[in-house]
Amino acid sequence: MRTSGEVTRSGPLPDGEGAAYDVVVVGAGVVGTAIARALARHPLRVALVEAANDVGDGTSKANTAILHTGFDAVPGTLEARLVREGHRLLTAYARETGIPVEPLGALLVARDEGQLAALPRLAEKAGRNGHHGTRIIDADELAARETHLGPGALAALDVPGESIVCPWTTVLAYATQAVRSGVDLHLNCRVEGVRPGTPHHRLATRRGTLRTRLLVNACGLYADAFDALVGREDFTVTPRRGQLLVFDKFARDLVRHILLPVPGPLGKGVLVSPTVYGNVMLGPTAEDLDDKTATGTTAEGIAGLLEQGGRVLPALLDEEVTAVYAGLRAATGQEDYRIAAHPALRYVTVGGIRSTGLSASLAIAEHVLGLLADCGLDPGPERPLAPVRMPNLGEVFPRPYRDAGLIARDPDFGAIVCHCERVTRGEIRAALASTIPPGGLDGLRRRTRARGGRCQGNFCGAEVRALFEEARPPTEQNGGGGR
Ligand SMILES: Cc1cc2nc3c(=O)[nH]c(=O)nc-3n(C[C@H](O)[C@H](O)[C@H](O)COP(=O)(O)OP(=O)(O)OC[C@H]3O[C@@H](n4cnc5c(N)ncnc54)[C@H](O)[C@@H]3O)c2cc1C
Repeated sequence: MRTSGEVTRSGPLPDGEGAAYDVVVVGAGVVGTAIARALARHPLRVALVEAANDVGDGTSKANTAILHTGFDAVPGTLEARLVREGHRLLTAYARETGIPVEPLGALLVARDEGQLAALPRLAEKAGRNGHHGTRIIDADELAARETHLGPGALAALDVPGESIVCPWTTVLAYATQAVRSGVDLHLNCRVEGVRPGTPHHRLATRRGTLRTRLLVNACGLYADAFDALVGREDFTVTPRRGQLLVFDKFARDLVRHILLPVPGPLGKGVLVSPTVYGNVMLGPTAEDLDDKTATGTTAEGIAGLLEQGGRVLPALLDEEVTAVYAGLRAATGQEDYRIAAHPALRYVTVGGIRSTGLSASLAIAEHVLGLLADCGLDPGPERPLAPVRMPNLGEVFPRPYRDAGLIARDPDFGAIVCHCERVTRGEIRAALASTIPPGGLDGLRRRTRARGGRCQGNFCGAEVRALFEEARPPTEQNGGGGR
């Protein structure tokens, strides 16, 4: 019978020969959690190991949250194939597990003659990527479909299928399903050294040594540094920062689709898009940096975004900004992923997952399973995963505060704690008691939206913190022990 895996945040790791894993996946972002989930379908001993105190705490928490179709990928690349497959897989998985997805479609808006001339080429490229549903629409149809567009829009490429998605629930769904299906999750557990060996590699962490037959590097921005630990130097990751602005919910009625510019020599450009939480997002910038921790925002970055956003949707600038943030893409100088099997090392690198990793995650995981087989893994028979149904964070889907039946059964679901986002005490309690409880208040926000609204926790912060502290095991409050 299947038993749930362990979730640990502190204390010693399983040690000794009997505690060896078949596969250790290092890095619990959207890519690593998807791989761990795929491995959990097989009777293997698997661990997912993460430096931070929560899953999805790296680039996976700070992106533009679009489930891409892959219409504009470079045809023939691995990325093009995996984004296309990933879109299909995640669309179906979201339905099954309750991850909020809204298939709004995208409009690539042309504003000059050069951009207008580019639209047929983009439609043809979409076709080469297997997306045959695109269509060029004229200025009149565009104006009818997006009534608040700024002047100068000449035409657009209509791209059905481009969707908005909750990136936080996606990572949590993968990780929760992996753990419930037997994967051990070790948080606060940076791998600092690797001693390759046979039959087991030894991974050094501050919490002890892990042994594993096969190893997967899903370290995101640090995939190059991890490669170096096993003696490989195949690429360098350059962080490419994307700053973003989140507008208050009053802005939501201004825009119906994901509005994209026609891509130019400087990349995909700045989009205006609704979010599944009922806000509007503007961004991201694209800045190549040296510092892999530079997730701050800058006055110039914000000013540039406001200028570009004001051209697309002038009324947006009259709306309040709720939050600003930045994420770092793992650029490697190659217009494709850097996924490679190293059979002699029984090791797979999953690097360079640049600006499409959320969309491609489930397809990347399937691809990596194949590469692990090339490295000698016999996964054994397939078995069903433990089912998961995630709490809904999406604005257009039923929320607990409106569910009379649920409130009648448990009045905590009628007790609103975060008034901006209408998050109830019941949701907070459920998140704190979930398979992978949050490691801090930010993790709790990613599970419930509490403190994520226009007051950014000014009103509810104290109560949310009190609920969080109350639920923490005494061992963690003292800084020791495991969960
Ligand atoms: C601004 C921006 C916008 C984007 N927009 C989109 C979008 O709209 N749609 C889309 O599909 N994609 C988008 N992306 C891309 C997407 O967010 C990434 O491709 C994806 O999150 C990468 O996931 P990951 O798991 O590889 O990396 P991460 O989420 O960074 O996870 C890697 C993890 O590895 C851990 N780690 C590193 N080293 C070690 C170690 N030695 N030991 C243990 N743990 C370690 C880190 O702590 C981290 O948690 C965007 C990215 C950015 C920055």
